[in-house]
Amino acid sequence: TNKRLADQVREQQRTLFNIAMTDQLTTCHNRHSLSEYAPKYIKDSIRYEYPLSVMILDLDHFKQINDEYGHTRGDQVLSQVGKMLMATCRQGDIVARIGGEEFLIMFPHCGINDAATKANVIREMIEQAEPGGLHVTASIGIATLLNIHGGDFDRLYKAADNAVYVSKESGRNRVTADPESLEADSMLTARHA
Ligand code: GH3
Ligand code: MG
Ligand code: MG
Repeated sequence: TNKRLADQVREQQRTLFNIAMTDQLTTCHNRHSLSEYAPKYIKDSIRYEYPLSVMILDLDHFKQINDEYGHTRGDQVLSQVGKMLMATCRQGDIVARIGGEEFLIMFPHCGINDAATKANVIREMIEQAEPGGLHVTASIGIATLLNIHGGDFDRLYKAADNAVYVSKESGRNRVTADPESLEADSMLTARHA
């Protein structure tokens, strides 16, 4: 009986843990979960010396989608986009919904150029999938962890977020890479050449 009770408690704890870490609408990680995982991902990237990239994705003119088709349809779009993102990512990538129509993905073992390739695949996938039966596009920013970030997730986040802003300003439905991440990568490539 004791063992059965202990098993039950463990099972309930696991369920509660999953609920607490999951965004209900999309089943992606939520903000809380991201804040649990991000420091560990950063630490491992520095310790084992592999690149870590972050991608932030913001759906374009989403307010207009809600206004024209209703909040329920907007929710359908979000749910489908979240599930698509999770389906295209590798195990070990963290896909999180960080705001209303904003998602963040952490790509371990992925430098800025690989991240750009992935981001463009994702951008095209969303446009072609027509989530919720609507033409939906996304603006994306990517950045790779560098010494200048000092192992601080917030700084890496800001670099990716600034890149999203550039994507928005330059016409939306595009991918922008953080210029410092690109520069650091080309210097590294030159050194290895
Ligand atoms: P931009 O291209 O500049 O990103 O424009 P936007 O309309 O996407 O940006 P804005 O930040 O002005 O609007 C985001 C909208 O997302 C506002 C809000 O109505 C909607 N939104 C936020 N959370 C949810 C949600 O959970 N469900 C639905 N359906 N809509 C949401
Ligand atoms: Mg937004
Ligand atoms: Mg938006």
